[in-house]
Amino acid sequence: MRIINWKSEIKLLLCFLIPALIIDWFFDILPWAILLVVSAYLTWTFLQLRRIHRWLNHESHKPPPYSSGIWGDIFDSIYRLERQNKEEKLRLQAAVDYLRDSFASLDDAAVMVNKRGNIEWSNVAAENLLGLRYPDDTDQQLVNLVRTPEFIDYFESRNYEDPLDMDAPKDPRIKLQVHVTFFGEGSRLMFARDITRTNKLMEMRTDFVANVSHELRTPLTVINGYLETLHDNDISDTDRLKRIVEQMLGQSHRMESLVKDLILLSRLETVPEAMEQHEIDILSLIESIRIEAMASGRGERLITIEGDSAISLMGNMDELRSAFTNLIINAVKYTEEGGHIHVSWYRDKNNAYLEVTDDGIGIDRHHLPRLTERFYRVDTSRSIDTGGTGLGLAIVKHVLMRHQGDLEVNSTIGEGSTFTCVFPLSRTVAQSYTA
Ligand code: ADP
Repeated sequence: MRIINWKSEIKLLLCFLIPALIIDWFFDILPWAILLVVSAYLTWTFLQLRRIHRWLNHESHKPPPYSSGIWGDIFDSIYRLERQNKEEKLRLQAAVDYLRDSFASLDDAAVMVNKRGNIEWSNVAAENLLGLRYPDDTDQQLVNLVRTPEFIDYFESRNYEDPLDMDAPKDPRIKLQVHVTFFGEGSRLMFARDITRTNKLMEMRTDFVANVSHELRTPLTVINGYLETLHDNDISDTDRLKRIVEQMLGQSHRMESLVKDLILLSRLETVPEAMEQHEIDILSLIESIRIEAMASGRGERLITIEGDSAISLMGNMDELRSAFTNLIINAVKYTEEGGHIHVSWYRDKNNAYLEVTDDGIGIDRHHLPRLTERFYRVDTSRSIDTGGTGLGLAIVKHVLMRHQGDLEVNSTIGEGSTFTCVFPLSRTVAQSYTA
């Protein structure tokens, strides 16, 4: 920074005064001489003030006009301050732009409201979730635009300790959680977050716990009932005793398979991808499942297999076995004795398919979208008869997802069903035979 040049200013004044004193020495007209000097100095000062005024008002973007002495220093100082101000303004503007950009890109709605409750700024998400348009709605009262009564009460209460949960004004299916905080001198910053998915997950979790408890309680109640009968009565009839023990065994097997399915499902959901992946001979796998299904003691059904033994699938043996077993056992369970189940394994130019078709009871079309939900059953009473847990198709869906596959279901009531596992060709391996 330059040091203000007072010396040169005093020199300048002396340049005016010394001639005036010399004139006075010769002509003895001191007052006039002084008046002349002061007027000249004032005029010069006035001219500098005019230049500064003109420069500040019309040309402040340019460097200051040249001037000597103290005025030169003043021009330079003002110019330097002006430049610092501009730089500071640009820096602040950049910080504000940065903050606005980051708020603008938020998935949550963000709204800035001044102390009178008028909107100052809002982001794009605020338009989607709250119906606020920026800049069109600037300066409007927020409560005039978001007219949900519970929101108006909350916003005007000025007590924002707890967030507010409410329906989105534009679409009541969307649930919002609103947070408001004060900042600056009474301004408010409001965030609204879409919590529809979180709410749904919470609901699903609650339903899941309720379902598991119910599924476990039912067989436990039956076992308890039989145990009480055994405890309170002296049963000497061996046939009756055998029936009771059989019933208890059946229920305990039911609990066991439920727990097994739950453990498998939770592993499928939590472990991202099966560690062990091999080339699997699908036809041999299906054949071994067929033998198990025939031996399951569910009565006579014809199970036929057809497929291309040259195509194998890269995947996890245990997971695929469990998925295909569920489909084939389901086909057996939901087909009357003497029915026919056909399993085929083939590929076309798009995908590879494992198809299980039965001519069983079939499923009403409106159940199809929900079949893979956990514990979803078409007919609860019948499922209990068949010993199903309601988790089989959820397991199938997860296993297929982990193999980049998909499950397709076609069914007609009274005619039968087809469950198709669709795999991408990238998962298949074609065997080449040597003669
Ligand atoms: P479950 O253990 O009850 O069989 P799943 O998840 O395997 O549970 O199947 C869900 C429901 O889908 C079953 O309760 C049954 O109503 C229906 N379902 C599954 N497979 C078949 C099929 N092949 N034929 C008719 N209904 C079926």
